[in-house]
Amino acid sequence: MRYLFLLLIALFTQCTPSTTSEAPRPNIIILFCDDLGYGDLTCYGHPTIRTPHLDQMAQKGMKFTNFYAGSPACTASRYALLTGRYPVRSGLEWVLFPHSQLGMHPKEKTLAEGLKEAGYATACIGKWHLGVTKADYLPLQNGFDTYLGLPYSNDMLPPRYAPIPLIQGNDTIESGPDQTTLTKRYTEAAIDFVQQHPSDPFFLYFPYAMPHVPLNPGEAFAGKSERGKYGDVVEEIDWSVGQIIDAVAEMGLAENTLIFFTSDNGPWLTQGANGGSSGLLRDGKGSTWEGGMREPGIAYWPGQVPANSVCTSITSTLDLYTTCLSLAGKEAPDDRTVDGRDISSLFLDDKRALSDSPYFYYGPDNRLQAVRHGKWKLHIRTNSQLQVEYFDKKLPLLFDLDTDPSEKYDLSEDFPEIVAQLQSTLVYHRDQVAQEGTFWDETRE
Ligand code: MG
Repeated sequence: MRYLFLLLIALFTQCTPSTTSEAPRPNIIILFCDDLGYGDLTCYGHPTIRTPHLDQMAQKGMKFTNFYAGSPACTASRYALLTGRYPVRSGLEWVLFPHSQLGMHPKEKTLAEGLKEAGYATACIGKWHLGVTKADYLPLQNGFDTYLGLPYSNDMLPPRYAPIPLIQGNDTIESGPDQTTLTKRYTEAAIDFVQQHPSDPFFLYFPYAMPHVPLNPGEAFAGKSERGKYGDVVEEIDWSVGQIIDAVAEMGLAENTLIFFTSDNGPWLTQGANGGSSGLLRDGKGSTWEGGMREPGIAYWPGQVPANSVCTSITSTLDLYTTCLSLAGKEAPDDRTVDGRDISSLFLDDKRALSDSPYFYYGPDNRLQAVRHGKWKLHIRTNSQLQVEYFDKKLPLLFDLDTDPSEKYDLSEDFPEIVAQLQSTLVYHRDQVAQEGTFWDETRE
């Protein structure tokens, strides 16, 4: 009972938007990879992929070691980042396909909409994947002033689907663009956008098409990495990050710009050499094991984020939503549950530890599978992208992620009281989510 009381306080604190009296209103750039694993950067331990710009970004900024994507799948993860809410609240499918009739509900309040209200110029350049069959779903109707990119994954191609459109604004400007040019074109468009805003605050959301397969490195990078084509693609993204950082610095905006780098979900392991690495973490994309959702996370903001720092607090893309709004002087909306917390204190001042309980969901039916609280992670269901039946399907499973980040040693029988506490956390969360429902439920009524 005492635990439940503490939990309720923690949840209340999480749901209470923080206020920032003197918001710094920095420019905000979110660089968002697709299917990049926890182990795919030099600064996260990869032995052969060269990522000098990201390594330098981490050296001059903050590296997160317990940073999670909101979901182990593309669409759901992007929803979490842009709304600060668990994907179960979206009513969206796990992964949207070109013909899917769903998309971002008009009642959702995206990070771009919030920042636009705060006076920011906003751009989305890259993969959208939050609906395409209605104009309402596209970036321009969801808070972005400009858009250039593919509206869904770069593998949704003929003969199964129509040629993938390259969209600018609301219009298709090319059909089936040469994917080897994408990272370069996106980077040029991103730099153009930055250069157009020397004085107004801006928000650039840059979701790369890759290293999601098919891997299409640009001409300057093809065949260059020791790690093969996958390495070529990641090294091109690293180059792109360097270009963005340089462009911001050349504008004299470095000290007024927060740049955050991460990915939507873990590596696609069944792609063999064309998939990435989750390093020491178990499994990958599509699973709620650590390899599916724990991601590299790097914050860079010279003069604000301390150089060469490491943040071990448990954080997620959902927190970026509330944090970015707070930095812009805006509160998260209070007419719905926003799950993300303002974590700006972690990289701005007192670095206080945050109490939290990230939840891990799987699949089109939004099954709640696991929760993390402090060092503990409890799985009540599991699935493996690799179709491996770990622990002979035994459930529940309890891991101490501080001593066992690879989730190898089940402690459920040693700590039954922790299992019980975390089970009640899951029940509370599931009930709360069910009670609130989704905006699509209202539409159907
Ligand atoms: Mg993905």
